[in-house]
Amino acid sequence: MSCDNCETALEKLYVFLDEEIDTASHDEIQAHIDNCSSCLTAYDLERVVKALVSRSCAEKAPEPLRAKVLYSIRSVQVQITEQPG
Ligand SMILES: [Zn+2]
Repeated sequence: MSCDNCETALEKLYVFLDEEIDTASHDEIQAHIDNCSSCLTAYDLERVVKALVSRSCAEKAPEPLRAKVLYSIRSVQVQITEQPG
């Protein structure tokens, strides 16, 4: 099982979450997430942060929280890279 689209999918996740992505790419990302648990994890992480931020009524994510989440996403990406096939 290869997952060559992971890098592209993760880059688009941020736009995807902001709902600024065009419909074609939206379907592409959605399909990828449905079939890729690694990217789904990254997607969930980012979505949780957005939910936390909006819940706290902050206009932007507090830097320590954002850094922590970005670090978590990087860890996921490392796992993707290190997983054979
Ligand atoms: Zn993926």
